[in-house]
Amino acid sequence: MRNLRNLEIKGKRVLMRVDFNVPTDKENNILDDAKITAALPTIQYVLQQGGRLILMSHLGRPQGKKNGKYSLDKIASHLASLLNMPVTMVDDCIGEEVQRAVQKMQDGQVLLLQNVRYYEGEEKNDPEFSRQLASLGEIFINDAFGTAHRAHSSTTGIADYLPAYAGFLMENEVAMLRKVLEDGEKPRMAILGGAKVADKLGLIHNLLDKMDTILIGGGMANTFLKAQGKNIGKSICEDGLLEEARSLMNAAQSKNVRLVLPQDVVVADEISADAAAEIVDVDQVKAGKMILDIGPKTVELFKNLVKDAQTVVWNGPLGVFEYEQFANGTRAITQALADSPATTVIGGGDTSVIVHDLGLEAGITHISTGGGATLEFLEGIELPGVAVCEH
Ligand code: AMP
Repeated sequence: MRNLRNLEIKGKRVLMRVDFNVPTDKENNILDDAKITAALPTIQYVLQQGGRLILMSHLGRPQGKKNGKYSLDKIASHLASLLNMPVTMVDDCIGEEVQRAVQKMQDGQVLLLQNVRYYEGEEKNDPEFSRQLASLGEIFINDAFGTAHRAHSSTTGIADYLPAYAGFLMENEVAMLRKVLEDGEKPRMAILGGAKVADKLGLIHNLLDKMDTILIGGGMANTFLKAQGKNIGKSICEDGLLEEARSLMNAAQSKNVRLVLPQDVVVADEISADAAAEIVDVDQVKAGKMILDIGPKTVELFKNLVKDAQTVVWNGPLGVFEYEQFANGTRAITQALADSPATTVIGGGDTSVIVHDLGLEAGITHISTGGGATLEFLEGIELPGVAVCEH
C-alpha cells in the first residue's frame, strides 16, 4: 500500500479520514475511545511533519441530515486532551465556513470537520460531494480501517481527486489480517462465536482454505449441533441453514480442517440476570432449555487447542457474555489468548470490546478496530477503502 513514510507533508493540507465512530451515551459522551487512540500515531506523525491536518469522520447514522445528536463536538475536545493541543472544530464538512477555517490553518495544526454523514452524498459516494471534500486538501490519507468496507465519498470518492495513501492504522490492520490469512505461522486457528451463522457463512468458507482448526461457540454453534442431529431445546438456531451447516462440516472434513463444536454447554430457561444456569453435555439438552455458553469441558478443550496454535484469530463471543452466568466461556478464552505466545488477533466488534473490558489488551498481538470491515477482509473480500490506497 502507498504509505506516508516518504511523503513530503510539510505545509501541505492533509485531508485524513479517520474512524471516530465511537460508542457514545445519550448525551454524546464517549464510552470507549479505542478507535480515537488507534488513530493517534498517524495524526501525530502528520502534525510532527508540519502538515495541516484536516480530519473527517462519521458518527452514528444521521441519514444525510444535520442532527446534533451525532455531532463530533465532544470528540474534538477529547482529541484535544489526548494530543494536548487545541483542535479546532467546524460545524460543517464542506462549504465556505469550512474553506475559511482551512485557509487560516498553520503548519502543525489540526481541524476536525463535522460528521460527513450529515450529507446524503457521503454514503452515495456522490462525485460532487467527493469533489467538495477533496477541495479542502492536497493529499488524502485513509486511516479509517473500520469504515474501509464502505465505498463512500470520504473513504473512496475523494481518491478520484487527490492522491490517496494509507495511514499507519490502516496499514497495520491490513498487514495483521493478511498475516492471519496468508503467512501466519502454522498451525493456524480461528475461533468463531456470536449470534448467527448467516453473518459468517462467507467467512467460514474462506477460513476453511486458510486455517488448520476452527472452533465454533456462541449462538452460531447451535445450528451446527442441530445439523448433527442433537436436541438443542429452544436455543437460537437458523433452521434454514442446517443443510449449509452440514455441507460446511463435510467441506472441513474433506479439506482436513478440524472443526470443533462444544462438548458441554451452559443452559437456562431464559436469558436474564437471575436465570438459573446449569451445565450439561451437548447430548443432554432438555426441550425447554436454551444453550447460552460453552461448558467447562469445552473451555478446557478450547484452551488446549489454543496452546497448539501459532496463529489465532477470534471473532464473536462464545456465550451471552452480557450476563454473568453465561460469560465464563468468553472470558476464559480471552484469558487463554492473552496468555498464549502465539500471534493472536481479535477480529473486531464485540470481541474487541470484551478484551478491553477485561483489561487484557497487553497480551494480544492485534486488536482490530473494525467490525464489518474486519469480517469482510477475513472473508477475502477486497475492501474499497483499502483498494484506493493500493491501485
Ligand atoms: P454477533 O453480533 O454476531 O457477534 O453476536 C453477539 C451476540 O451474540 C452477543 O450479544 C451475545 O449475547 C450473543 N450470543 C452469544 N452466544 C449466544 C447464545 N448461545 N445464544 C444466544 N445469543 C448468543
